[in-house]
Amino acid sequence: MTSPQPSQHRAPLKSLDDALVSLLSHARPLTGVETVTTFEADGRVLAHDLVSALQVPPNDNSSMDGYALRAADVTAPGQVLAVTQRIAAGHAGEPLEPGTCARIFTGAPMPAGADAVVMQEDTIEVGGNIHGVHIQTAPRPGQWVRRAGEDVTRGAVVLAKGERLSPASLGLAASLGLAHLGVVARPRVALFSTGDELVMPGDVPPEAMKPGAIYNSNRFFLRALLHRMGCEVSDLGIVPDKRDATLAALKTAADHHDLILTSGGVSVGEEDHIKPAVQQLGSLDLWQIAMKPGKPFAYGTVKRDAGAGVAAAAPCHFIGLPGNPVSSFVTFLLLVRPFLLRLQGVESTALKAITLPAHFTLDKADKRREFLRVRRNAAGGLDLFPNQSSGVLTSAVWADGLVDNPGGTTVAHGDPVSFISLSDLLA
Ligand code: AMP
Ligand code: MG
Repeated sequence: MTSPQPSQHRAPLKSLDDALVSLLSHARPLTGVETVTTFEADGRVLAHDLVSALQVPPNDNSSMDGYALRAADVTAPGQVLAVTQRIAAGHAGEPLEPGTCARIFTGAPMPAGADAVVMQEDTIEVGGNIHGVHIQTAPRPGQWVRRAGEDVTRGAVVLAKGERLSPASLGLAASLGLAHLGVVARPRVALFSTGDELVMPGDVPPEAMKPGAIYNSNRFFLRALLHRMGCEVSDLGIVPDKRDATLAALKTAADHHDLILTSGGVSVGEEDHIKPAVQQLGSLDLWQIAMKPGKPFAYGTVKRDAGAGVAAAAPCHFIGLPGNPVSSFVTFLLLVRPFLLRLQGVESTALKAITLPAHFTLDKADKRREFLRVRRNAAGGLDLFPNQSSGVLTSAVWADGLVDNPGGTTVAHGDPVSFISLSDLLA
């Protein structure tokens, strides 16, 4: 084992909050805009405000199947009104004569003059020489009527620039008549793994693995996480452990990507080719973050070739994640995720934590802020995965959230703790 270099060893730990502020200060939003169909816009970030050219709903309409009438015509239950018209959704009725009503269906526009709907369950049809209906409840004005513009008013900013589109927002954009949306370009990310011990699943069967060899697991979850974050991923595999190959790979990647993301090789004292290569081609800051898992972390830049055109003005970002799988996973979620959101123009990247009771104990406090892999239980508390080692990927699969436990803090059964849902982080 290489012993840590004294200067790096003594470097004070950086708080996660400071690391995040530094990292985000480098994340200038990408300027590229793409027009996509509203169908394809899920998860993308709006490049412009969406201003409504119409009101939604466009007119007053019924929210029930029943009878549209003037509330003032039925002052007591039991009155009979003549049914003079039938209005289905998609059809406009005639103005309603006083003392009459209209058969109406959900979503159909209210006829002029009507101000309330009585649902059909509160009526009895009357036959005979007039077609009438017995109204069994006295309606309130406005009852079962959806008001024009109650969802969206004309001219309103319905979705703002920088908002990440959800399935519901696609529906809302469609309700305004928008078939296409302007969204921020996808971040182009080159992904590398480093480490001579790494073997790709499929290349060598388990029984033939050499001593010391392990399968490359980080590559799989990092690639999937990047896709979830809306990135275009160039998976460049395992970087050969050779200086020239590393330099060449970084140079080519920098010309065509917004970010180069690597895992492994950022621990203190490690001898690898990524660090000197990034330093030679740009700049690199190695941080020791006061968090567990995930202490080592690197941010840097790689200059682009002058031939790379307009993009050459800004260097390509470089982020080096720790190699331990859980460290890599957690630092991606807490640092790379907000960085990628900011690149796409999302302003607010703060996490929503909720307070839940610990149904576990943590007797030994760590100096660093810990992100414990936990799971909600049926009793409304949190269970702790028994092995919190940064190499145990099982913990990340088992967990449905992380407890954000401040440094130097033990936890007693029942203590309120801060819980961050993994489904929020993976959305
Ligand atoms: P490093 O950060 O390179 O010192 O690696 C720390 C630990 O993570 C070592 O045990 C590595 O074998 C392991 N590791 C590094 N990269 C990967 C990877 N891509 N997949 C699985 N384990 C890894
Ligand atoms: Mg390594």
